[in-house]
Amino acid sequence: MTRSIVSLQAGQCGNQVGANFWEGISAEHGIDAEGAFAGDKPDQQLERISVYYNESSNGRYVPRAAMVDLEPGVIDFIKNSSKGRLFRPDNFVYGQSGAGNNWAKGHYTEGAELVEMCLDVIRREAETCDVLQGFQVTHSLGGGTGSGMGTLLVSKIREEYPDRMMCTYSVLPSPKVSNTVVEPYNCTLSIHQLVENADAVFAIDNEALFNICQRSLNVDQPSYTHLNRLISSVMSGITCSLRFPGQLNADLRKLAVNLIPFPRLHFFAVGHAPLASPDSHSYRSLTVPELAGQMFDRNNMMAEVDPREGRYLTAAVYFRGKVSTKEVEDEMALMQSKNSAYFVEWIPHNIKTSVCDIPAKGEKISSAFIGNTTAIQSIFLRVGDQFRSMFKRKAFLHWYKGEGMDELEFTEAESNMADLVSEYQQYTDATAEQPEEEFVDDYTNGVEDVEEE
Ligand code: GDP
Repeated sequence: MTRSIVSLQAGQCGNQVGANFWEGISAEHGIDAEGAFAGDKPDQQLERISVYYNESSNGRYVPRAAMVDLEPGVIDFIKNSSKGRLFRPDNFVYGQSGAGNNWAKGHYTEGAELVEMCLDVIRREAETCDVLQGFQVTHSLGGGTGSGMGTLLVSKIREEYPDRMMCTYSVLPSPKVSNTVVEPYNCTLSIHQLVENADAVFAIDNEALFNICQRSLNVDQPSYTHLNRLISSVMSGITCSLRFPGQLNADLRKLAVNLIPFPRLHFFAVGHAPLASPDSHSYRSLTVPELAGQMFDRNNMMAEVDPREGRYLTAAVYFRGKVSTKEVEDEMALMQSKNSAYFVEWIPHNIKTSVCDIPAKGEKISSAFIGNTTAIQSIFLRVGDQFRSMFKRKAFLHWYKGEGMDELEFTEAESNMADLVSEYQQYTDATAEQPEEEFVDDYTNGVEDVEEE
């Protein structure tokens, strides 16, 4: 019995990224713009189709997706585009007011008014699943709808389906890409929610995407189309073991169990190799070692972090195309032994490998990567610095208070994110020799010492 995933896309970014995801995976599964099967390998393409699609009574494959926004613009654009007919029309839920980049409007006022309608769509989709494994959310953390209302929906869904998995593809803001000043506020408030209510967060950092475009793809002025293409390739790589039959029959829970040694540390850096310029379809004959090298290179990471400044708690790699599982496993073992300083030694065999023999579109072989690295803390430090510089002068707070928010929520969000940074640092420094009890005591003593001073 297939275990299905219900997908939710919220806000301008969430809907654009989501629409690209559906376009990409529909092409891989041979689903045309009307939802009809037009592929050439039904055994492979359809065997696990019901993970992401619902087969309607007239034989069409319809995404198990809810599309939500507080303004009609992007939703109308998607509906009227070539992708629009794929989706169930009454799964589009939208308002007219917009969130004006204000997290509080998304979370507490405008968004809260629309939330029941969204939950109805989600419930209806969940009911069509034989077995529901969980949810996947695409949204940005810098705006108002995807971040504020997106995290409201995450908490409501968590309340209603406490034992199902909740994964988010969360786009982090960068001043290089957007110049909206309040994004660090919106982002910090969202992370505060995601620490508590999400099981797994794929941190997609616009700063890193922007740098990849400039550095590796020779695009001087990257647009959202360029950034979203990168996101779509990595989402397709990460989900391929969920969507296609394979040795492991992966699901979201297995993925989480392998990747998350401590419940709060569930923010992942992701990557994809090869990175190809949009105009040049590579068709290069890459080798497994070349892909592995690229994948672990900081320049390929879609989070602006340097893995050498932290340590991998765990990682998962997904190869696609005609590659030998043994070669992949050997290569990963080699990679790990050569870079052992960057993997915690107290979790043995912490790279999980998987091979799917169905190649990605336009590539003979490719690979995707999920890293649970303690270096991810540098994103939170970056956003935290931007947050504090405004918050200490209480700049822009009146917009949030005007929607009924209390300043205390800002303080709590900031301190939750600062705690997260300390936890990542704690495990960067932890060694195998340090017994757990002593380790905890040390930590507590350290905190008490600081307080006494
Ligand atoms: P919302 O509609 O209120 O959720 O607001 P947005 O999704 O527009 O949020 C603004 C943030 O999302 C900023 O950090 C933007 O840079 C980013 N963003 C908006 N659209 C896109 C997109 O299509 N792709 C990417 N990668 N980022 C986007």
